[in-house]
Amino acid sequence: MNNGVDFVLKNIEKTIKLIENNEEYNYLKAKVIREYYYLKSIKYTGNMYEYFLKFKESNHKYAKDFAFLKDFGILPNEEMADYLKDNYPEELNNFCRVEDLIVGNKYSNNEIASIFKCSNMGGMRRSKTTNSLVLIAKHTNPLYDDQWTEDGILNYTGMGTIGDQSINFGQNKTLAMSAQNNIKVYLFESYKENEYYYCGEVALCGNIYTDYEIDSDGNRRQVIKFPLKRVDGLSETIVNKEDIENSEKVKEKIVQKLSQDEIKDKIKNINPQVITKEVKSIYRERNQFISEYTKNRANGICDLCGKEAPFKDKNGNPYLESHHVITLAEGGPDVIYNTVAICPNCHRKIHILKDKKDILKLQKVILKYLLNEEDKESIEKYNELFEKNN
Ligand SMILES: [Zn+2]
Ligand SMILES: [Zn+2]
Repeated sequence: MNNGVDFVLKNIEKTIKLIENNEEYNYLKAKVIREYYYLKSIKYTGNMYEYFLKFKESNHKYAKDFAFLKDFGILPNEEMADYLKDNYPEELNNFCRVEDLIVGNKYSNNEIASIFKCSNMGGMRRSKTTNSLVLIAKHTNPLYDDQWTEDGILNYTGMGTIGDQSINFGQNKTLAMSAQNNIKVYLFESYKENEYYYCGEVALCGNIYTDYEIDSDGNRRQVIKFPLKRVDGLSETIVNKEDIENSEKVKEKIVQKLSQDEIKDKIKNINPQVITKEVKSIYRERNQFISEYTKNRANGICDLCGKEAPFKDKNGNPYLESHHVITLAEGGPDVIYNTVAICPNCHRKIHILKDKKDILKLQKVILKYLLNEEDKESIEKYNELFEKNN
């Protein structure tokens, strides 16, 4: 169906192998891996062709860096568009179209630009070709964070980052007049750089109103709010819990830079009603025997700080928490040669700081236990695990 896409992916896989096996090209590795993930997000030869056309037309600055690829029978980006055209002409009409987008799926910035034929910059992007307006709601800045209400309405902030916003400025007018002018409006939400959840088609569902917020210069200014609702009647899209948690960390850093007065000013406008959100999350099952064994092994003493457990639980047992040295999220196994029992304080610390010294210390503690127990089998596996991961 899309043999052109397969060809492109095989071509870049060859590039990665070549770079990995030749130290002199190592400095290009990060770049190629990034490109690989981007290309993997493209599903249709038509979109692929359009992407590579840009390299053909512009004399891009990396062309020289990658000129060596040809010596190894690998096609450089500048030649890919012509190759696809010559070899897969019937596939050039295979395109991801707006109606192929799936609500709740993530798309990259370039994909959005290519599908809607709109700019790849800005929060409100007008495309005359597809007669659409693409809205991006970024959840990575707490100062401009449009949230859904419990009734499934997103009060979307208009265009303009400094000074009072005007209804006549840029695409604010397009959005205000979208129903009258039959312009379709589509929404994407972003919690992470270059990842956009598609939220479907939206439409104005109430009166446009003004509000007051702080602009990026720190001044109080008037902003325009557009109440939007999804056309399919459903409420917000369900996003990954991890993505929301990551965006919270990013926002926290921004808030930390504000003065206490600025924060207080922000607090005044906060709606006290807590907004609930349905999220997708991955549950990693852990074995109760492993965690109990680990805690018994520690015998009430934290494996990291060496102090006694800070309190006893309701059953009178010293309270420690089991922790995986190579975490489950990183793909670590749930086994006694990867677990420790630590106090809640150390547990928080290790997850927040991820200090290499602490991690090495915990590895040593585990090894000591295994040696004491003369558990040869586990020692062997322990060596294998940490050799690979250190
Ligand atoms: Zn501790
Ligand atoms: Zn843990």
